[in-house]
Amino acid sequence: MLDSVLLALFLPCLGMASLFVVYICLLWYATSRHPQTDTSLPVKPVSHQGLSADELHKLPKVTGKELVIGTECAVCLDEIQNEQPARLVPGCNHGFHLECADTWLSKHPICPVCRARLDPQLFTSSEKENPC
Ligand SMILES: [Zn+2]
Ligand SMILES: [Zn+2]
Repeated sequence: MLDSVLLALFLPCLGMASLFVVYICLLWYATSRHPQTDTSLPVKPVSHQGLSADELHKLPKVTGKELVIGTECAVCLDEIQNEQPARLVPGCNHGFHLECADTWLSKHPICPVCRARLDPQLFTSSEKENPC
């Protein structure tokens, strides 16, 4: 009598367990495929994603009153005050708050307004003035 009760309890458990194993296998299969596509990314240089802190420091640093085109920061949509530090995008001369520009440019190497790509050569242009 007791055996049949145990069996009745054991069978659903076995069913659940096998379902769980299948689920884990599917999960493992799904996740084991992901790292393969992920590992191909870190191989590429990080600088491709955005600017390094070093490159950010080479960007022209100005104040709000020195901005050429408008004083609205396209990142936070706030006004850049005259005395606030701002970052100028070389080439297109769009200006943003220093911290807004650095946050954006460290992730995307493009101008948030006109999508102009930041050429690494722009960062060395100031150093080129030195006679070789
Ligand atoms: Zn801003
Ligand atoms: Zn721009």
